[in-house]
Amino acid sequence: AQLDTLDIVVLAVLLVGTVAYFTKGTYWGQTVDPYGSSLPTAGLGKAGKSRNIIEKMEESDKNCVVFYGSQTGTAEDYASRIAKEGHSRFGLKTMVADLEDYDYENLDQFPEDKLAVFVLATYGEGEPTDNAVEFYEFIGSEDITFSEGATADDKPLKNLKYVTFGLGNNTYEHYNSMVRNVDKYLTRLGAKRLGSAGEGDDGAGTMEEDFLAWKEPMWAAVVEDMGLEEREAVYEAVFEITEKPDMTPEHDDVYLGEPNKNHLEGSQKGPFNATNPFIAPIVESYELFTANDRNCLHMEIGIGGSNLSYTTGDHIAIWPTNSGKEVDRFLNILGLASKRHSVIAVKALDATAKVPFPSPTTYDAVVRYHMEIGAPVSRQLVSTIAQFAPSEEVKAEMVKLGSDKDYFHQQVTDRHLNLAQLLEILSKGEPWTQVPFSLIIEGVLKIQPRYYSISSSSHVQKDKISITAVVESSSKPGAPHILKGVTTNYLLALKQKQHGDPNPDPHGLNYAITGPRNKYDGIHVPVHVRHSNFKLPSDPSKPVIMVGPGTGVAPFRAFVQERAAQAKAGQNVGKTVLFFGCRKRDEDFLYSKEWQQYKEALGDNFVMHVAFSREGPNKVYVQHKMEEYGEEINKLIEQKAYFYVCGDASNMAREVNILLGKIIAKYRNLPEQKGEEIVKVMRASNQYQEDVW
Ligand code: FAD
Repeated sequence: AQLDTLDIVVLAVLLVGTVAYFTKGTYWGQTVDPYGSSLPTAGLGKAGKSRNIIEKMEESDKNCVVFYGSQTGTAEDYASRIAKEGHSRFGLKTMVADLEDYDYENLDQFPEDKLAVFVLATYGEGEPTDNAVEFYEFIGSEDITFSEGATADDKPLKNLKYVTFGLGNNTYEHYNSMVRNVDKYLTRLGAKRLGSAGEGDDGAGTMEEDFLAWKEPMWAAVVEDMGLEEREAVYEAVFEITEKPDMTPEHDDVYLGEPNKNHLEGSQKGPFNATNPFIAPIVESYELFTANDRNCLHMEIGIGGSNLSYTTGDHIAIWPTNSGKEVDRFLNILGLASKRHSVIAVKALDATAKVPFPSPTTYDAVVRYHMEIGAPVSRQLVSTIAQFAPSEEVKAEMVKLGSDKDYFHQQVTDRHLNLAQLLEILSKGEPWTQVPFSLIIEGVLKIQPRYYSISSSSHVQKDKISITAVVESSSKPGAPHILKGVTTNYLLALKQKQHGDPNPDPHGLNYAITGPRNKYDGIHVPVHVRHSNFKLPSDPSKPVIMVGPGTGVAPFRAFVQERAAQAKAGQNVGKTVLFFGCRKRDEDFLYSKEWQQYKEALGDNFVMHVAFSREGPNKVYVQHKMEEYGEEINKLIEQKAYFYVCGDASNMAREVNILLGKIIAKYRNLPEQKGEEIVKVMRASNQYQEDVW
């Protein structure tokens, strides 16, 4: 997915990957406290808050708004960083704003002496993120009309000064199209861009460095245009943390990891969504690999009684818990271990900032349930924390790491260090007691749910969602730690518990399996469902071709399960062709037995082509199998077969796309370029669909 990275990649999660964070994603948002109190409602828009950004800026005395279009939190994080830096270095009065929270018809009245910044992730096939859809449609509209009646020809935005940065992935055809188009539309409307339109590339893994390289000349342009003066950036806390000696963690009002008030107050209430997860039972779980050194989990998650629903092809989000091992490391190195269960109240010191977790709470709960403590560290955060180092020597090393890109990569990025691991190594275990906890809240990304392509059919099991998740574990030569994926190792622990291990502790990670106040006991996990456009044709007699190596097969298990059930029920089901790939037949061939049952139901209409990359003398991949069966693929596409790809976004999906064009060209005797065009048309009409991450 073209995304926000560590936004992850929304798909991509992207969470992964990238980056690091100087200030965190959500605290700098505005208006309503998600956990309770809200603003007065007089004169306010649909969500009970003002949708007038100009008024909002006036009221809160701001002269710079940083809008973000973010799917998984990375763009939001960069927006916060820009806001924070604009304030601390240049004295701008900044605020961050979710694009979805405002109206844009009055942008023609945006004051000349103020600045608008747009931080925009491109999602999927060049689409806006969910929260940017309305803005994108408005600003790109051919017959745009502003509140005073101005139209495009009047250059209505001639007073608007703006800055843009985009987050994209160059492995996608529509690389950074969101920022490119918005920049084009704003210019067309007469607005004036300061600095260049920045583009970060998650595909090349250079998002953070692209951002750092773009922002200095951008600030120089802003300083010149707005007549600002750079000042020495002094750290100013965004949050006030007050310890509450009169309260204990047992107190009913204290959040011990509950995601919101509703969860704190007892029985969970719907609707369940991205801000209110359902604590779902894991009904069943088992291991899919037979190899000893790798794990892949099949899990059945119950959603009965929750009012959650899904349709085949949707995604489920799992809300992770950090491992005890990393939580301990984090609290120890910050010198907070002895007071980990002390109750703290956290308050935003700026009216437009918001605390990214509910309060009062404890250090332990914040670190365990709300912070992405395992993520990579950003160079910018290292520079900021340097001033709080436990000794001059350590400080000097931090400053060096913060200012030397290559050195930083070699010492930190390439060794896959998270923040606590880095601090621990640099100070040789001496605690960093001077680091303000506010800076930690600002600097560490808010924990993100991870998405999984649902591997069951909603027709077959509407109350149970299956997932197929490979457990992340990777070691780098020279790295002091083995990188353990946050969510998948947590799920592995849940599976171990379900299979009778009273103290599941995969790799010594030690998870708090029973959750806050034991609310996850009986093996539960917080989830929500995300609907997708990755769908079977509504007419089951249409043929389908699916390409899904590894866990990319997840949604195709659902598709085949559904078509097998339809065939059993007497429906006319068309040809169903699946290309799957794995290392070895007897190691990681996912659902190898199940396919035979589906074959019984679907008969010759179900065909599976499997590529084994480590069996013979040559590595065989799904692409090879596609070439081998190219003639059949072309014939089915001529019969209007739907073509689906799922799995690795960076290489496989792209290669499959190119290859399909070649196959079509070859068997229809057309030039290759024509084949490519046919695939493009298929994509535009949904005959070609991708679910990639
Ligand atoms: P994380 O902790 O998020 O780590 C993941 C990766 O991030 C690591 O392997 C590493 O490359 C990088 N990383 C993390 N920390 C660091 C660090 N400190 N330094 C350097 N690099 C780091 N997965 C499946 O198995 N099955 C599916 O069906 C599936 N479907 C998906 C569908 C969608 C739409 C999306 C977006 C993703 C899907 N994924 C799927 C991927 C899944 O969401 C998770 O990304 C994956 O399971 C890893 O999560 P984790 O928390 O275990 O790992």
